[in-house]
Amino acid sequence: MFLFTTPVFKETIWGGKKLEEFDFEIPSDHTGEAWVIAAHPNGNSVIRSGEYEGRTLADVYRLHPELFGASGELGAKFPLLIKIIDAREDLSIQVHPDDAYAYSHENGSFGKTECWYVLDCEENASIVIGHNAKDHEDLVRMVREERWSDLIREIPVHPGDFFLIRPGTVHAIKGGTLILETQQNSDVTYRVYDYDRLQNGQKRPLHIEQSLDVITAPYEAPEVPDYRGLGRKITTGAEVWHLADSDYFGVDKIRVDGRFIADYSVPFLNLTVIEGEGEIDGEELKKGDSLIITNKTTKFRLEGKLTAIVSWPVKG
Ligand code: ZN
Repeated sequence: MFLFTTPVFKETIWGGKKLEEFDFEIPSDHTGEAWVIAAHPNGNSVIRSGEYEGRTLADVYRLHPELFGASGELGAKFPLLIKIIDAREDLSIQVHPDDAYAYSHENGSFGKTECWYVLDCEENASIVIGHNAKDHEDLVRMVREERWSDLIREIPVHPGDFFLIRPGTVHAIKGGTLILETQQNSDVTYRVYDYDRLQNGQKRPLHIEQSLDVITAPYEAPEVPDYRGLGRKITTGAEVWHLADSDYFGVDKIRVDGRFIADYSVPFLNLTVIEGEGEIDGEELKKGDSLIITNKTTKFRLEGKLTAIVSWPVKG
């Protein structure tokens, strides 16, 4: 079964209007995020068609856990959240807690492991991942002395790049970047530094103490499959790149040209079309569409000329 979802939009000080590229009716030219597959109190996708049309994803997940794999095994909450992010300006420099910290400090929330697939970016765009502190003491000193440019590790970014960001990793999406994010279903963010920007005349709050609690020092880059080369498989009708294996999710990029039979043995699969158009088992599919392929459909057929990012849950 396919559950097509409608996006939930978030207006932000740093957002723009590039989400229009996906045929989305965005609320303003400061639209930072489209939560395309979401079942969270702060944003809940509505099912667009079929048997569950008009229901929220959170409701369908709660009432029919069997559609999403072994009932109960993944917990009572939908485990993942998929967003498309348009950063017209820099996002704050931030960090997320792990499950244990979030559970005890944030009302039983999940922590957040996330990953970014760079859909597009301006020339000379960069992102922040990690920091230059040698150890925790060094980190505390640099933060207290507000030596942000010494602390922050900024690297260039290109369309097609992929980054896995573990809890405890300092990070920021910088202006001029369009990203598809796959993450744990959590909205807990600790803001480390916000460039002293004002929103409605006020600085947004920082969370320095929580940040110092959770930031891993020194920073160690995670191993990700070699998405530029070895992670790629060429098969009939498609190329498939295996982008991520984390404790919480797996992510692939699929580029279809012709007819491709996908076969995933996973509890369920999220799919977002990032380019092109075609069909899935005969149903029309175009750029900007998102759907969940439930466990009753492990094999499915993609046809046409399109690129999609797919993800599936891994028991944490
Ligand atoms: Zn983040």
